[in-house]
Amino acid sequence: MTELEELSVEEQRLEWDTPLFRTALTQFEQAIPYAEVNVSIAERLRYPERAVMVTVPIRRDEGHVDVFPAYRVQHSSVLGPTKGGIRYDPHVTLGECTALAVWMTWKCALLRLPYGGAKGGVRCNPRELSPRELERLTRRYTSELRGVIGPQEDIPAPDMATNEQTMAWIMDTYSMQVGHAVPEIVTGKPVALGGSLFRHEATGAGVVMVIERACGRLGWPLAEQRCVVQGFGNVGGIAAQELVAKGATVLAVSDISGGIYSPSGLDLDAVRAWVAAHGTLEAFPDVQHVSNHELLELPCDILVLAALEGQLTAENAVRIDAKLVAEGANGPTTIEGDAILGERGILVLPDVLTNAGGVTVSYFEWVQDLGRLFWTRDEIRARLADKLADAFDRVWELAEEKGITLRQAALVAGINEVAAALKARGIYP
Ligand code: NAD
Repeated sequence: MTELEELSVEEQRLEWDTPLFRTALTQFEQAIPYAEVNVSIAERLRYPERAVMVTVPIRRDEGHVDVFPAYRVQHSSVLGPTKGGIRYDPHVTLGECTALAVWMTWKCALLRLPYGGAKGGVRCNPRELSPRELERLTRRYTSELRGVIGPQEDIPAPDMATNEQTMAWIMDTYSMQVGHAVPEIVTGKPVALGGSLFRHEATGAGVVMVIERACGRLGWPLAEQRCVVQGFGNVGGIAAQELVAKGATVLAVSDISGGIYSPSGLDLDAVRAWVAAHGTLEAFPDVQHVSNHELLELPCDILVLAALEGQLTAENAVRIDAKLVAEGANGPTTIEGDAILGERGILVLPDVLTNAGGVTVSYFEWVQDLGRLFWTRDEIRARLADKLADAFDRVWELAEEKGITLRQAALVAGINEVAAALKARGIYP
């Protein structure tokens, strides 16, 4: 007998059952007792609807072929097409994509967007691929997913190491295959192709809108807060800029090369100019250089996590020296880390709420593309602020009413929306 045959069906691990998926599932189980969900519906929601694995061969610039594993997972299509980013990263797995797809479902439902969650990615090191190689990778990955993505089926968006250009390649590949331009197949694309104004800034700006709303409830003037931001990419870079625009002080930021710290506050214009010229924060002058681990433990009021998952853990949560943690990244706090922060009275603004600005403006982009009618930047910013304020208030009030954490409340609110729709639709057939 093989090892697998010796296990009962219940004991056999599902292909996507990895530590990050366990985190997403544990959060679901922690929310379920407070949600209005019957056991059959809860059971359905523990599984992705569809998990696709493909392999993507590309010819390297030197002439040989390399093959990369790639994935797309769709968690729930109950409320509409699935929606979620595509990341290029050496750590992409089926389990990572599944966890991120589950979080996307709760996020879309919490924001009352007519979508379910999806996520995809290619396991590769994007820093080792040339722009031409990245284009070939993106076009082949898109072709491999031709049967599962679509404007009414599953709509990709950018995530780690993918950007507007990546979305343009996906849109072009898909459009060439169907024979006409289909801008609504992706969001986060260039404005010239039907992208939305303010999409680029939406996630980072949304993080700060949520922080500002929380500060309002807590009676903390945002302009007096000292902030540390992990990650200086799309989310972290814009969040830092928005914090400074609101008068807050940003003491430290970091990227994959490490962090820079100035107790009196960083000159962000100078930091941005340096990164534009040199590609990383490394060797930025006249500041203290810290590791990413040290950065997380710097004394501050607000710690913004905007890099990757699993950053606050049982190991370091005891040393976090912030009053508020804002999760701009997906899944940056482990279950154990979360519990320790809770015991220490450090408030956590959960990812499904805090970084929902991106998918909300993606939804605006899709609606504009379908209607072939485009809104102004001010209109979009105002609509985003309304959506996030509404979601924040529902989460805050639910947390108070039920005596639960903001994360539990955000998940309960999202789960209730999906469960009500699934109950009304029924389990097919
Ligand atoms: P990005 O690639 O633009 O930026 C990622 C940043 O993290 C970069 O500064 C990178 O140098 C840094 N980084 C990478 N590895 C690191 C490491 N080991 N230690 C410290 N820093 C590291 O990606 P992004 O779009 O800003 O996404 C960041 C996070 O936000 C991800 O978790 C993503 O899923 C989430 N998110 C993004 C969006 C969006 O609209 N872009 C929306 C919602 C959630």
